[in-house]
Amino acid sequence: EESSIPADKPRILLMGLRRSGKSSIQKVVFHKMSPNETLFLESTCRLYKDDISSSSFVNFQIWDFPGQVDFFEPTFDSEMIFRGTGALIFVIDAQDDLMDALTRLRLTVSRAYKVNPNINFEVFIHKVDGLSDDTMIETHREIHQRANDDLADVSLEKVHLSFYLTSIYDHSIFEAFSKVVQKLIPQLPTLENLLNIFISHSGIEKAFLFDVLSKIYIATDSSPVDMQSYELCCDMIDVVIDISCIYGLMEDGSGCAYDHESLAIIRLNNTTVLYLKEVTKFLALVCILREESFQRKGLIEYNFHCFRKAVHEVFEVSGSSEAFSVFPAAS
Ligand code: GDP
Repeated sequence: EESSIPADKPRILLMGLRRSGKSSIQKVVFHKMSPNETLFLESTCRLYKDDISSSSFVNFQIWDFPGQVDFFEPTFDSEMIFRGTGALIFVIDAQDDLMDALTRLRLTVSRAYKVNPNINFEVFIHKVDGLSDDTMIETHREIHQRANDDLADVSLEKVHLSFYLTSIYDHSIFEAFSKVVQKLIPQLPTLENLLNIFISHSGIEKAFLFDVLSKIYIATDSSPVDMQSYELCCDMIDVVIDISCIYGLMEDGSGCAYDHESLAIIRLNNTTVLYLKEVTKFLALVCILREESFQRKGLIEYNFHCFRKAVHEVFEVSGSSEAFSVFPAAS
């Protein structure tokens, strides 16, 4: 139902040359496809809204060119496309010739910037799994340099591009998406603060607020993120959702793998505990803590309750009750 999809969710556009990896990224991040299966994806002509908006915190669309997107075509409505966009991700295949991609990047950025100077421009230097470390650094440097020179040539040196090295074969694509999404959340400092307070009062080592469907983390406490912790938490979400799908649904397949009651605790044999709990319709808190701290489970539960309430308030006061549509309609 269209009206239940608020316009103020973080809106992200994924663009890039054909075969750069856009649909693979979409399938892996938002549809749990395994990276190897993307080898058999057909390159289709598509220009559509992905249907994840009703099940994720993130609202996201893919645009492909050449093909559907031709800036010189009078029917191409760049106003309509760029106006409401928060971030434009441009995917460059790092294993392919860079010339075409860089030309497209310049055209895209200058066109989009004219319509909406507030867009965040995010460049994914993609498929870096196939590159040696040296080549990766060199490719990064070259793309960074040439992309900025190209913009300076058209007097757009003030436009800022951010670069990420990504691959669907590891967690780098999720990490990059997380950073892109976080920039679009005005409440981020408040969420970080709440997470800091929550973990320091509960003896927790690390906490992430996750978009459950995509495993993008939309906020974390201010201690540094190490990839292993992040991967561990991602794996936990997969396990919990898989188990719920297998054992949690009704016989006719109805029911929901993630809901208000969702809670999971996994003890690892190295005295680490993983703790997952529902925060909103789309978001879950996933924490890493020591076994000793977990003895004070009542305290953690109480603090979680306060944290959850505060997160709900953060999203409620930040606009209509529909903001981010994390709450059931209040009717
Ligand atoms: P699109 O036309 O931009 O949507 O590109 P596709 O998603 O169809 O991807 C084109 C090809 O690139 C597929 O064969 C994918 O398996 C491959 N691909 C996508 N992402 C990666 C990546 O991170 N690493 C490698 N090595 N290949 C990838």
